[in-house]
Amino acid sequence: MNAPAELSTEVLAQRQREVVQALMAVLPTHCLLYREEDTVAYECDGLAAYRRLPLAVVLPETESQVQRIVQICHRLDVPIVPRGAGTSLSGGAMPIRHGVVVSLARFRKIIEVDPYARTATVQPGVRNLSISDAAAPYGLHYAPDPSSQIACTIGGNVAENSGGVHCLKYGLTVHNVMRVRAITMEGEVVEFGSLSPDAPGLDLLAVMVGSEGMFAIVTEVTVKLIPKPQTAQVIMASFDDVVNGGDAVAGIIAAGIIPAGLEMMDKPATRAVEEFVQAGYDLDAEAILLCESDGTPEEVSEEIVRMTAVLREHGATRIQISRSENERLRFWSGRKNAFPAAGRISPDYYCMDGTVPRRKIGPLLSRIKAMEQKYHLRCINVFHAGDGNMHPLILFNGNDLDEWHRAEAFGTDILECCVELGGTVTGEHGVGIEKINSMCVQFSPEERDTFHAIKRAFDPPGLLNPDKGIPTRARCAEYGKMHIRGGLLPHPELPRF
Ligand SMILES: Cc1cc2nc3c(=O)[nH]c(=O)nc-3n(C[C@H](O)[C@H](O)[C@H](O)COP(=O)(O)OP(=O)(O)OC[C@H]3O[C@@H](n4cnc5c(N)ncnc54)[C@H](O)[C@@H]3O)c2cc1C
Repeated sequence: MNAPAELSTEVLAQRQREVVQALMAVLPTHCLLYREEDTVAYECDGLAAYRRLPLAVVLPETESQVQRIVQICHRLDVPIVPRGAGTSLSGGAMPIRHGVVVSLARFRKIIEVDPYARTATVQPGVRNLSISDAAAPYGLHYAPDPSSQIACTIGGNVAENSGGVHCLKYGLTVHNVMRVRAITMEGEVVEFGSLSPDAPGLDLLAVMVGSEGMFAIVTEVTVKLIPKPQTAQVIMASFDDVVNGGDAVAGIIAAGIIPAGLEMMDKPATRAVEEFVQAGYDLDAEAILLCESDGTPEEVSEEIVRMTAVLREHGATRIQISRSENERLRFWSGRKNAFPAAGRISPDYYCMDGTVPRRKIGPLLSRIKAMEQKYHLRCINVFHAGDGNMHPLILFNGNDLDEWHRAEAFGTDILECCVELGGTVTGEHGVGIEKINSMCVQFSPEERDTFHAIKRAFDPPGLLNPDKGIPTRARCAEYGKMHIRGGLLPHPELPRF
């Protein structure tokens, strides 16, 4: 049984001494942090509302060091949380149960770019954008493009099955990864997938991608590279009603068009970003839709004509088509800067990440509007409209505990509304600690037991990122009672702000 959530100060100090001593024996000094002033930087990830100090942080430089670390933690019964850049918005990289954080930040090598096979083999700490930078001299790039791509790592992308604006056409991380090498909690090196299109045996690569650091520690990834499109253009369409905008999204897909990007923002979001980046957005529109086409010049012109016709049919009140690369980038700059723009108009924001069927975008937005009244908090909405992945940004002040509790309840309400409308509690940010209670609402006890059985198959001692992703029956029973009683915190065991 690994350490309980709470330990007395003396027991904790004794445990820390024991773990640090064992780690010191296998790691150079510069690869180990254990003083509070050093480890405090790792107490949370992008979901800064939940925090916990780790017992120690290790920054290994080689695969064999990772192996030795897991063997020690296994022997001493200490949980491990793998970490990339710490940009997770669901608490996936937050330390848990006085465990050890294994940062892959020093695994930064681009091992090989093969322009003939159109693949890149990289270490997990390589930033998403660095892969495209390395492939650029060959006219290639790595397609999945989370908005955090300047900072987030490919190891984190694999763990979260990350998406981005261009994933509607080019697929999520799972569609663009060929092979993953990883180390299990028992110290075994395993490979999932292969360098050829198919691998022998069960397709466990798809199980590994999106496993949120709960199955194994990724130490090497081979990704697909694709040619950079010759050209791209984006249409910016305004709507005086978000429902019309949502219907236009469904209309484009129904017309058999898969745009390179199909993103929507509501009026409050448009206003926030326009003040920040002056992207030229229509401030009178209730919703703005960005529809990108890429390919050869002929393909792009034809698709732009077809998309424009569908947008007009669905009541677009204004249509602008980018006339140059600079203008295209300017139109996108607003959408890409939506999160920092939210940070300018509010001390804090809580980014939700649920998914609904495309035709339910309008109804969900109406429900969110009503929730703004219920919780007395503002919410601005940006979303990957093409796949119904919504990112409501709830604005609040983290110094006001009551506001934070209302923001948390507001977020949970949105996720559960997504389930009610036929969607899911996750989009692309993972479950982590943030959505673990909402998993109780979406999945039956039998389904959750199956998830636990899969985790046990990969991680028999249950030490890799425990208490995340899959709720226990006990947690769900507690959550059920909490629903009835109301007013209790979702994670009373975690310190906040
Ligand atoms: C401003 C902003 C914009 C964002 N936009 C997007 C977006 O458009 N699309 C999107 O999908 N996400 C987005 N995110 C969320 C986040 O960037 C992604 O989830 C990203 O993949 C996390 O990568 P990371 O390196 O920061 O991983 P971390 O945050 O360090 O970790 C994330 C998870 O991966 C696990 N992990 C990390 N490295 C490894 C490894 N080597 N082996 C095993 N497990 C590992 C961790 O345990 C954790 O569970 C955004 C975040 C921010 C702050």
